[in-house]
Amino acid sequence: MPARQADAIILRTYPLREADRIVSFFTRQYGKCRGVSRGARRPQSGFGAALEPLTQVQVSFFERPNRDLVAIDRCEVVRSMLATHAGGYESAVILGYIAELAERLLPEHQVNDAAFRLLVAVLAGLQAGVPPWLALLYDLYWMVRLEGFLPDLAHCQVCGRALAAEEEAAFGPGIEGVACRGCRPAGGSRLSGGGRAWALVFAKTPLAAIAPAGWETGAQAADLRLLLHQRVEAHLEQRMQSWKLLQEL
Ligand SMILES: [Zn+2]
Repeated sequence: MPARQADAIILRTYPLREADRIVSFFTRQYGKCRGVSRGARRPQSGFGAALEPLTQVQVSFFERPNRDLVAIDRCEVVRSMLATHAGGYESAVILGYIAELAERLLPEHQVNDAAFRLLVAVLAGLQAGVPPWLALLYDLYWMVRLEGFLPDLAHCQVCGRALAAEEEAAFGPGIEGVACRGCRPAGGSRLSGGGRAWALVFAKTPLAAIAPAGWETGAQAADLRLLLHQRVEAHLEQRMQSWKLLQEL
């Protein structure tokens, strides 16, 4: 069977047997795939840092008859995120969230060129110095939108009223979108006018063109991040492991 060549981003790996790894990777040409890289845990394997999460690679692999896992033959680094990982614990946790989000949201074997281009833009941005907190929220906004469950942030979901540009809204239990002050659900969280404004910026502006000021910490647009993350967990009907680490930063 001929080898398939693909542009890919490594999402996750875990050990298999003594020396192998299972690798989840998102390809531009074939969607998300899972494969085995034989001997990848041996120092002399030749895979080296190519299997680190979020490394952009050129991969060649073989389909195996009656097997879910493909056999990964070669994996060459196109863009390494090791420098961003080395930027400290905070950067590493943020990269972990971006990788887990893609790993959980993208269905297997479904080509999604827009999501692939998004991830490449986010990784290129991080490499070029975009603040990690900004890259994370941009990625989260667009992943939710591309997967088709971005809620309407411009209208109160309960009474239908259009919200003013700077108007504060609420989100939380029982609603998918946002509610106006009068319709605020019990136990809901606040979404500031600023948080809603950032969603409009992400909708219209490439990541590289967004001013980085104010994104040094996770305080910027933390309310929008929480809303989008809650939509992700509602969609998955699962908790994301890396969210807890993100909350502890
Ligand atoms: Zn309302």
